[in-house]
Amino acid sequence: MSLPFKPVVIVGAGPGGATTSLFLSKKKINHLILDKATFPRDKICGDALSGKVVEIAGYYDTDLIREFAEQQETFIGSWGVVFVAPNGKQLPVPFSLNPEKRKYAPGFISKRIHFDDFLVKKLNPAFAEIRLGTSLERIEKSEKGYILTLKGPHGEEKLETSLLIGAEGERSIVAKQLAGFKKELPNYCGGIRAYYKGVKDLHPEGFIELHFINEVLPGYLWVFPLPGGYANVGVGALSQTISDKKLNLKKALDHAIKTHPELSRRFSEATLESPVQGWGLPLGNKRRPLSGNHFLLIGDAGSLIDPFTGEGIGNAMKSAWLAADQVERSLKENRYDASFMQQYDDAVWRVLGDELRLSSIMQKLVKFPWLFNLVVNKALKNRTLRETISCMFEDLDMRARLRNPLFYFKLIFNRS
Ligand SMILES: Cc1cc2nc3c(=O)[nH]c(=O)nc-3n(C[C@H](O)[C@H](O)[C@H](O)COP(=O)(O)OP(=O)(O)OC[C@H]3O[C@@H](n4cnc5c(N)ncnc54)[C@H](O)[C@@H]3O)c2cc1C
Repeated sequence: MSLPFKPVVIVGAGPGGATTSLFLSKKKINHLILDKATFPRDKICGDALSGKVVEIAGYYDTDLIREFAEQQETFIGSWGVVFVAPNGKQLPVPFSLNPEKRKYAPGFISKRIHFDDFLVKKLNPAFAEIRLGTSLERIEKSEKGYILTLKGPHGEEKLETSLLIGAEGERSIVAKQLAGFKKELPNYCGGIRAYYKGVKDLHPEGFIELHFINEVLPGYLWVFPLPGGYANVGVGALSQTISDKKLNLKKALDHAIKTHPELSRRFSEATLESPVQGWGLPLGNKRRPLSGNHFLLIGDAGSLIDPFTGEGIGNAMKSAWLAADQVERSLKENRYDASFMQQYDDAVWRVLGDELRLSSIMQKLVKFPWLFNLVVNKALKNRTLRETISCMFEDLDMRARLRNPLFYFKLIFNRS
């Protein structure tokens, strides 16, 4: 008996999978999208939606950005970032040098329980067959591609596909089984997240705060404002650092908000409103295969998280946008072999490669607290340097300056 055949199957309806589905629907390509969870569902995250999320949302439909801005109960606009150096000095950096020219905030913050549900509600049933509460259990090779065993509300079921898109996040079965991904401590981060209420002095323009405290360098503690007086608070550090220093992230967070001079003042009346929970961040600091015979990997399944900022939602959505183009090419040419699918890898690395390489370097530099303190001290005195750092959020060429040793030479010997 022949199995039901679905030409394109997306596994996972997080930002990566949902965005792939949206762009496939825009191209009028029928597909199946499934997720083991039913939505709304939580995802442990910092909840910060960078400019890249806004950019990709805008490619799909500029109305989405207007909706982010209007849904003030679940989204808050973010206009910049405050870097707090190991010496406690604060450097506020706006995301845009001309905020008055922008209609909407350059970034947003929204609890993932709301943001992911927002995207899933936008899926278009005219082209997307949506199965929630259905997990991928097993993958077997077949003549047309793969036979998938799914487990849903009505039990187990098998179907066949020619194109399998792994968007199931950090614990992707597709990545492990078909691309041979393994967890590598130097290319992995651990993070914990908690929701607090009543943290004092959150930035009125939704600036996110990155506190580079010595204990977790090159990781950081974050405080991100949310609607309704909430804040997303967490700590992330390299898995290698966690292992080498035998770090307990929950204790590190608790210790910092109780003893750090500024944080302890700001948290003195704050209440913990959630459990403190952890999850892994697969970092994009080396080029791994993102495709092969009859499959593609998106977002965390493809280890695409920015190694410096920990930002992964934007990269998941960007890879999704590029994956939809590859699906279109494959269907048109009826080709799913690894060499044809390689075009997707090339597109992702053309678009994200420079940025991921730079972020890997910056992650290594942050290991040196003195250098971080120096950059912040200088930037506080030097407007041009502050503006350079601001531009880095909008212009990658500016970020490339950080890679150049001359930048640090000038910084150290420039008296201004
Ligand atoms: C502590 C922490 C803080 C972070 N902070 C930020 C931040 O502030 N900003 C940012 O941009 N990024 C942040 N990230 C990274 C971000 O969370 C991820 O990069 C992002 O969620 C990746 O999206 P995704 O769609 O690839 O995967 P996910 O969001 O993980 O979605 C995967 C989906 O697949 C489903 N799934 C899994 N297995 C199966 C299966 N077998 N069958 C069916 N469905 C399955 C899951 O239910 C889930 O819905 C953080 C990560 C952590 C851990």
